[in-house]
Amino acid sequence: MGLAGTTDKGRWAGGHFFRAGCTLFLLAICLALSPVSRAADAPLNVTGYKMAGDATKLRIVMNFDREPDIKWFLLRGPNRLVIDLPRTKFAINAKDLKARGLVKGVRYGDLGESASRLILTGKGPFAVDKLDVLKNDDGNGYRIAIDMSAASEREFDAALADQTLTTGSTVSTDKGGRVGTGPISNPGHRFTVVLDPGHGGIDGGAEGLNGTIEKNVTLAFANELRDKLAAVGKYDVFLTRETDEFLRLDDRVRIARQHEADLLISIHADTISVKGIRGATVYTVSDKASDPQAQALADRENLSDQFAGMVIKDDNKEVTDILIDLIRRETHNFSMSFAHTLVGQLSTSVGLINNPQRSAGFKVLKAPDVPSVLVELGYLSNAKDEAQLLNADWRGKAAQSITNAVALFASARSGPGTGG
Ligand code: ZN
Repeated sequence: MGLAGTTDKGRWAGGHFFRAGCTLFLLAICLALSPVSRAADAPLNVTGYKMAGDATKLRIVMNFDREPDIKWFLLRGPNRLVIDLPRTKFAINAKDLKARGLVKGVRYGDLGESASRLILTGKGPFAVDKLDVLKNDDGNGYRIAIDMSAASEREFDAALADQTLTTGSTVSTDKGGRVGTGPISNPGHRFTVVLDPGHGGIDGGAEGLNGTIEKNVTLAFANELRDKLAAVGKYDVFLTRETDEFLRLDDRVRIARQHEADLLISIHADTISVKGIRGATVYTVSDKASDPQAQALADRENLSDQFAGMVIKDDNKEVTDILIDLIRRETHNFSMSFAHTLVGQLSTSVGLINNPQRSAGFKVLKAPDVPSVLVELGYLSNAKDEAQLLNADWRGKAAQSITNAVALFASARSGPGTGG
């Protein structure tokens, strides 16, 4: 354990700070050593702490024995949410503080003699959608409820600037709405495409009849497509992964939001039990699958997270609600529109499956504000498709068709004068 906050440029008033891993035993020592007068007002007690959600959206609930008078603000480098409290005793189970989704670290401790502080470190930039102090329904104590969602550095910086402008250094809890996001004008923004090469690392994805591994095909294709899109000179293009690394599905969505993507294209090449079936397919997200095959495919792709040791519980109501909330209508319409354009373009150059525009509950397509499609380039279970995926000419044609579809979609979305 050590003193933290060395990057905070004097914001720290000192005190005993320690990491989430600190045991209650150490906590007891820290408190015993602190120069706080025991005769002073009894400290506030934190009686519970929970986080629920993932890397795109996270809810934090912290319970108190009585009403906490708090102040909160953002810090960057890394992206942090800081909550200042009166002197507080934290009786928190260490396992509840473990990194989860959007929050990669939780620390807390004393800040001088009469104050305490809790710091949530983001996995990347985030927005505080809501932060409320609420009275518990059963009349016992209060809670702080925080809703955070993945955002871009620009959005985070805007929130940071906003808090400095309006309140000096802190933002009080009565500030309504999502702080620092919403319609912030961003004149420098170019149409941004995030390409998501499916699978990676320990998750190899599907395997072809002749040994082709899906994660390698998807990365190679994404690199070619990136080069084609970049050559147009009008778009910013990013990959969710550039190496053979494992990435959770919600992290792929988080990365798209971090780049303020106007389009997310997830690239796959699956297998199917019927060997005769071949051709490309374009998927969008939906609550109800368009057909049993699409459902089966989404189930398989969603299994990706099992490699991260995540327990997948679709009946978890809290998380399900968050996911439903994420699929906003407008984004969905744009996704459908792009899928339609993409199918049209692909049909002129590469073979498509019957009914090539399909839908199912793909987790990687659930960004709330990023139109998203998943492209199955072909089936590795079909020898001809596998051979095509390894053929540079075929890949070039497919990448060109996707580039054409992006161009049509981007020009339709750019208002007059924005220049793409
Ligand atoms: Zn796949």
